[in-house]
Amino acid sequence: MNNSENNTAPAPGAAEPSGFIRQMIARDLASGKHGGRVHTRFPPEPNGYLHIGHAKSICLNFTLAEENGGLCNLRFDDTNPLRESQEYVDAIKDNIRWLGFRWHGEVRYSSSYFEQLYEFARQLVRKGRAYVCALSPEEAREYRGTLTEPGRNSPWREREPEESLDLFARMRAGEFRDGELSLRAKIDMASPNINMRDPILYRIRHADHHQTGSQWCIYPTYDYTHCISDAIENITHSLCTLEFEDHRPLYDWILRYLDIESLRAASDLRDADVAYVLPEQTEFAKLRISYTMMGKRFLRAMVEEGKVDGWDDPRMPTLAGMRRRGYTPASIRNFCEAVGVTRSESLVDIGMLEHAIREDLDRNAPRAMCVTRPLKVVLSNFEAGRVDRLQMPRHPKREELGSREVSLTREIFIEREDFSENPPAGFKRLVAGGEVRLRGAYVIRCDEIVRNAGGGIDELRCSVDFNTLGKRPEGRKVKGVIHWVSASEGKEITVRLYDRLFLGENPAPKSVEEVFDGINPDSLVQLDGCVLEPGALDDAAGDHFQFERTGYFFRDRQAQTGGAAVFNRTISLRDTWKRTEV
Ligand code: ATP
Ligand code: MG
Repeated sequence: MNNSENNTAPAPGAAEPSGFIRQMIARDLASGKHGGRVHTRFPPEPNGYLHIGHAKSICLNFTLAEENGGLCNLRFDDTNPLRESQEYVDAIKDNIRWLGFRWHGEVRYSSSYFEQLYEFARQLVRKGRAYVCALSPEEAREYRGTLTEPGRNSPWREREPEESLDLFARMRAGEFRDGELSLRAKIDMASPNINMRDPILYRIRHADHHQTGSQWCIYPTYDYTHCISDAIENITHSLCTLEFEDHRPLYDWILRYLDIESLRAASDLRDADVAYVLPEQTEFAKLRISYTMMGKRFLRAMVEEGKVDGWDDPRMPTLAGMRRRGYTPASIRNFCEAVGVTRSESLVDIGMLEHAIREDLDRNAPRAMCVTRPLKVVLSNFEAGRVDRLQMPRHPKREELGSREVSLTREIFIEREDFSENPPAGFKRLVAGGEVRLRGAYVIRCDEIVRNAGGGIDELRCSVDFNTLGKRPEGRKVKGVIHWVSASEGKEITVRLYDRLFLGENPAPKSVEEVFDGINPDSLVQLDGCVLEPGALDDAAGDHFQFERTGYFFRDRQAQTGGAAVFNRTISLRDTWKRTEV
């Protein structure tokens, strides 16, 4: 569907677009508002890594543009040099590309508009809509009033524009200390909306900036910067989360009191033959997921205090962490689409996210066998040196993915838990004297248990029924099928099993201490000495697998453990909360 080409509403009878924002855009296109254009932006602040909540906003902005023949910018909202860095800028760009989205043109930075923003601020001053205030930050807070009491006018509010312009220039020139002066909009100190009580537009901050270096020592506030940046980039639909709802009147106020001609002249489309229309802000609810804490402030604390192994720790809800864990871009996009966009906050069940990744990997991940807690089995009637090269499908439901070769040899490993001396009722796997099928191979019978000095089981001696390859054993039923790996051909690997990082279903922390208290101490279990069928380590096999009966795993090429490859368990095969053992 592409509505933008002919500016018509969906054909009568066509499905109504899902979600209130899609519907709004369809209406705007139908009415010709914004000249029939759709231009969105994703505006991260580079003060941390992106998390799954940001993915919702990314998917929303980029998909709306894509669906409507529009454009989506990536703009770093970089007005706070103290907390921002190039490392975050690079990671954010990388994450967005990984998700599969391409922004329009060059990456944008609010900081590249600093000169224009400064000029627009002078315009507001000249119009008597802004003034330089000398209240200290503490005094300004006191003058602001409260939710129930109006604020009081600053004694500097009626300063002549000429004087403010002079002071503003001297602020820029570095003549004042941090906090000594500020530039404020002149709106209404009695407004019930605190955001409208003469909000600060510029503050003094003697700090270097990752993009502009030491060029500036005054920095514009988010509210002042965002609307003008949108207007410069000819954004049509400025989508943000609900906490900005009360800022919308300020967004509109700033743009309304600037000369529209000067905005147009500063904009990307100044020479284009299109109607110049101001951007409009629309809010939607933030994504929240059970057992998952977002919020960069808290995630940063987890990293800085060493509670996790970096921003890309596979337990983190960051896109970098989820990627290392084995989440695929498709699973995250599908999840965001399934969650939808609403104006009411709700807690999404983490099961939905897990469903999205299972669904993708079930369809696409090739199968392999890996034994995570090995027990040696000697096949006593299988000659030493004999190798049976068995063909097994890479994927049970997708023939086109072909087959893989798996070698059976005299000594193999099976999972310790697939053998039981005291089998509980219903145990279908191997028992003393009993039979089981080796996945894709023969039926074997356990003849003997070999014990070590301590009485523990060292190995099993089993015999092979060579008449059972690809067919049922004669005259008896064998119910169990277990996975196995050749002892001589298998490769030793390390496997990392993850559990939820937070114990609480609804972690809405108030403090860093609360975050740390809620950490699940068993969120990572590392198993060394696992044995994997060797073909899975071929580069051509890819990095995502279903280890049969064990879960979905992803090769972690960044992790180093003395030469053994490391595989992260992305997710178990079924929903088995609190079951870290495999
Ligand atoms: P955090 O609270 O995690 O620090 P933020 O909102 O401060 O997030 P920004 O970099 O300012 O992070 O956000 C970039 C964009 O992503 C904004 O438009 C913001 O509204 C959106 N966003 C942030 N968190 C979520 C979320 N949980 N769900 C949906 N969108 C989000
Ligand atoms: Mg923020």
